[in-house]
Amino acid sequence: MKDNQCGYCQGGELLDKFGIKICDLDVSQLILFKEQSHPGRCIVAYRDHVSEIVDISDDERNRFFADVNRAAKAIHRAFSPDKVNYGAYGDTGCHLHVHLVPKYRDGFEWGGVFAMNPEQKYLSEAEYAEMIGKIRDCLE
Ligand SMILES: [Zn+2]
Repeated sequence: MKDNQCGYCQGGELLDKFGIKICDLDVSQLILFKEQSHPGRCIVAYRDHVSEIVDISDDERNRFFADVNRAAKAIHRAFSPDKVNYGAYGDTGCHLHVHLVPKYRDGFEWGGVFAMNPEQKYLSEAEYAEMIGKIRDCLE
């Protein structure tokens, strides 16, 4: 089940607008969010173009959350945030995905709700590559 307007389904230019694929996980893909006001911010996107958590089987949902957990562990190891925030929105995108947003005490938006895209901090290609390498090294 794929949607030809969806960055998670299509990759390429559509994904390039906001993210960089790091790797496939069991039933999802791990994506680095280009806007890096929260260092290490990632997305775990389910493999199919389904809108809701209730649209997949118990087994698929458990595997999806195992992927989220695996990604969160890597983020904790790689960046030592004080807290990881999680957000699953998709009002307009309609492709099941979870934002993993590392928060740092006294850092940006600490103690508050993270913005969908603050559009403040983008990195160089080399910096993205370094960050992706770090996350890959910390994935079990
Ligand atoms: Zn999709």
